[in-house]
Amino acid sequence: RRGWARAVAVLKEFEEGCATPVSRLRQVVDAMAVEMHAGLASDGGSKLRMLLTFVDALPNGDEKGTYYALHLGGANFRVLKVELGGTRSAIMKHQDEYQLIPQDLVTSTIEGLFDFLAMTLKRLVEKDGEGSGQSDDTIKELGFTFPFPLKQLSISSGTLVKWTKEFAIEDANGKDVAQCLHEALIKSGLEMRVAALQVNDTVGTLALGHYEDEDTVAAVIIGTGTNACYVERTDAIIKCQGLLTNSDEMVINMEWGNFWSSHLPRTPYDFDLDDDSPNQYDQGFEKMISGMYLGDIVRRVLLRMSQQSDIFGECAHLLSTPFILSTPLMASMHEDSTPDLKVVERILLDEFKLPNVSLKARRLVVRVCDVVTQRAARLAAAGIVGILKKIGRDGSGGVASGRVRGKPKRTVVAIEGALYVSYSSFKEYLNEAVAEILGEEVAPNVVLRVTEDGSGVGAALLAASHSLQR
Ligand code: ADP
Repeated sequence: RRGWARAVAVLKEFEEGCATPVSRLRQVVDAMAVEMHAGLASDGGSKLRMLLTFVDALPNGDEKGTYYALHLGGANFRVLKVELGGTRSAIMKHQDEYQLIPQDLVTSTIEGLFDFLAMTLKRLVEKDGEGSGQSDDTIKELGFTFPFPLKQLSISSGTLVKWTKEFAIEDANGKDVAQCLHEALIKSGLEMRVAALQVNDTVGTLALGHYEDEDTVAAVIIGTGTNACYVERTDAIIKCQGLLTNSDEMVINMEWGNFWSSHLPRTPYDFDLDDDSPNQYDQGFEKMISGMYLGDIVRRVLLRMSQQSDIFGECAHLLSTPFILSTPLMASMHEDSTPDLKVVERILLDEFKLPNVSLKARRLVVRVCDVVTQRAARLAAAGIVGILKKIGRDGSGGVASGRVRGKPKRTVVAIEGALYVSYSSFKEYLNEAVAEILGEEVAPNVVLRVTEDGSGVGAALLAASHSLQR
């Protein structure tokens, strides 16, 4: 087939453009720490929004009692109940229900939607109360995850800035959603307090991580999108001077998907992906790292190869369909362990209708997947070390950097999301890069720890750590 050398040249050029030697990763680390400072100094000071969460108490394992969580997602929502027995007991997940939100409620009134949520919670509480024989005079408390832009006012109140996803309820703008939910709960006859209102799943991940391991200082999610949060000292939150918290600390939601730095290795394929996206110039870091995009970057490189050569045959037009290659399929090709790359062959045939792609060309496809994933994982690693640097846990600054009398402090980062959890090459590249950046003296003190279901259980744990009963 013609054009082999040109196809290889496309790969080489892409590979060079994506290079992430440790020197470059260190620049990304520094840029992350600098942008974090800037985002904390003033609103709009950085592409990192560094949002206050008002979470000033993370669960530490001694919580006791029954707590609830309500998580409003896109088309569905979820209610769950957890029971905590103190002394870092195993979490008993009693009930966990996913439900679809009836279509008419998505555009109705806030009252209609929240009445429905309150009734569902009530059913969960009642169903569970039956037969438990428990006397029930303690106030029930709830963690409410409301993943829409909020102007948060305290741990238990926040006004809606605007709806996103498919929601469009006009009378809700400017209202305190925790208060609205509270009213709906009273109306339904359920005595329950919204103890913790949160916008972001990463905060739940951090809460669960901290419940399980008190050295946890940050949380990262790398799934369809990506975000991170961490524990900051209140006196470092310059844009909110005089902020008082019970612990002199607060969790900051970084919105790190929007991080940008000229040190990020960006290729023409990334520019094109951004141009074609509905949120151009936004979420630059996310577009290089998360599950929504990695498959499509690969597709763009393969398309270029097919334009430069005929290594994929003459009918490669399906390669020009945006998002036709999902990240899980890309991962399957990347991790194809059959000796003659049968999985790659099948996916090229099934997804792109490309028959008879030679083994040599299939190897090239695997290389492209590898380059994209390696860059993504290494940049995410640099982001994580950037957070550690900001809070002095990266070992770079002597005593201030997490050393207690000469001994480095153990530091844990909670992590969730399918890219890290289900894509083993991604995870290996990420772990390797964290160790490489930190160096062999500091790396053993930094642990990346997978949590499970921070967005559900973590929200209930936040209700526990902000409970009136503590
Ligand atoms: P969320 O959508 O809440 O982020 P996940 O953490 O499950 O949920 O992430 C889903 C994303 O991860 C999908 O966009 C998909 O592209 C990607 N993904 C799922 N499974 C895999 C896998 N085995 N390998 C690579 N990517 C995956």
